[in-house]
Amino acid sequence: MSSALTTLRRDFGGDVIEPDGTEYESASRSVLASGSPAHVLRPKTVRDVQAGVRFAASAGLVLSVRGGGHGFAGFGTNDGGVVIDLSNLAEADLIDAERHLVRIGGGATWGQVAAALGPHGLAISSGDTKSVGVGGLTLTGGIGWKVRKYGLALDNVVAAEIVTASGEVVQASMEENPELFWAIRGGGGNFGIVTAFEFVAHPTTDVFYGKIAFPASEAAVVLQGWADYLRTAPEELTSTVDFANPFAGGAEAPVEIHVAFDGDDPQLAARAIDPILRLGTMIYDDVALEPYADTLANGATPPPGIQFAARSAFADKKSVPEVLQILAETKASERSPFIAVRSLGGAVSRVPGDATAYAHRQAELMFVTTAAGPKAVIEAARPVLEALWSRLAPHVNGAYANFLASATEEDVASIYPAQTYKRLAAVKRRYDPSNLFSRNHNVRPQ
Ligand SMILES: Cc1cc2nc3c(=O)[nH]c(=O)nc-3n(C[C@H](O)[C@H](O)[C@H](O)COP(=O)(O)OP(=O)(O)OC[C@H]3O[C@@H](n4cnc5c(N)ncnc54)[C@H](O)[C@@H]3O)c2cc1C
Repeated sequence: MSSALTTLRRDFGGDVIEPDGTEYESASRSVLASGSPAHVLRPKTVRDVQAGVRFAASAGLVLSVRGGGHGFAGFGTNDGGVVIDLSNLAEADLIDAERHLVRIGGGATWGQVAAALGPHGLAISSGDTKSVGVGGLTLTGGIGWKVRKYGLALDNVVAAEIVTASGEVVQASMEENPELFWAIRGGGGNFGIVTAFEFVAHPTTDVFYGKIAFPASEAAVVLQGWADYLRTAPEELTSTVDFANPFAGGAEAPVEIHVAFDGDDPQLAARAIDPILRLGTMIYDDVALEPYADTLANGATPPPGIQFAARSAFADKKSVPEVLQILAETKASERSPFIAVRSLGGAVSRVPGDATAYAHRQAELMFVTTAAGPKAVIEAARPVLEALWSRLAPHVNGAYANFLASATEEDVASIYPAQTYKRLAAVKRRYDPSNLFSRNHNVRPQ
């Protein structure tokens, strides 16, 4: 046994799962990717996380960090290396009721958070799915059902506890290590393992949530009308549009608009949502008042072998008409990928562009195209996706890291404008000079 492994066995109090272990099959994979790591470590304490980090560094093994395991690019596993799976660090505690301050473990899921905060009448704007992790989603953004009113998930973080590459525990906030605090709000898992986040939660009532559908033939008009309306709609309203062709009948699939109105006043909700009902010939509308936690979907783990090609970008106000026209035309074709367009603006756009490492503050919309299936299906979809993205290229900017299944240099440059990258690289040099945390949209130490 290597000395690194001997030290791990001495210092690590969590579960160690290796290829001959009974749990290995499920522990070796993340939700969207397969792998064959040599060691999957499930720490139970921060000291265990420190021991795991020191082990990976001293053994010279590739290190993956897994929060909720939903990353599209499969960073949460690897071949032959170490996975530190944080799923046992999943507390979600209200630590200051007056300030709505909540401490959340780095391996918690948003379903666990919503369930813990609901009884206190609190919520944190996060994402749309229960099983998605707080860690991955928050460290690169967090576009959820209250994003226009409360900003990105990372805008609500006030402090974090981080195990850095040296195995030290460091606190980050506006007061302590502020540059590191800036970097972890957008810079992903590049700087260490966040063992706990502190968020300021917001009061919530039940919310009006549901789907409104229109015929496929009205896609272009409905989509443009939706984007125009969202520009002046109350910030309590957050909305997305889905073209779910691959799962819902091909080119004839209806246009589905999801709406989430943050509040339980039926008149205010109707005033905000009614203009959307009038965008076209409505087919159905299932908007209803429900607890915020119930708006989050249950995620599913696809069978092994299913791959994902997910790519995202942002559209600024001036390019919205062209981008939406191209997406609507694509929806009308037989081989359209799944397309989702999310409204931004509101609180997201009021945060200065350099206040956090998430730089795309002025975008009106973020959209993502996704193809899913066995390898042959993905390969067949590639020419269509490439043609679509070539058309979009002159009109779009940036990329949203949480909806990217690839991690090329070009992807990293799309996520981080040059100034942001330069500042991140300086933080990386200080906290992870040997790039131990490289399984991410990687920032190189400079
Ligand atoms: C079904 C589904 C629905 C989604 N819905 C939304 C949505 O509504 N809004 C949105 O913004 N995004 C959404 N996403 C995207 C999601 O934010 C990303 O996939 C994100 O990476 C998932 O985080 P995770 O912790 O579950 O994933 P993981 O695969 O565990 O983590 C991804 C990477 O993040 C880093 N990381 C995770 N936790 C930590 C930690 N505690 N410390 C340090 N690094 C860490 C690591 O580098 C890790 O490899 C969705 C994804 C899926 C699959």
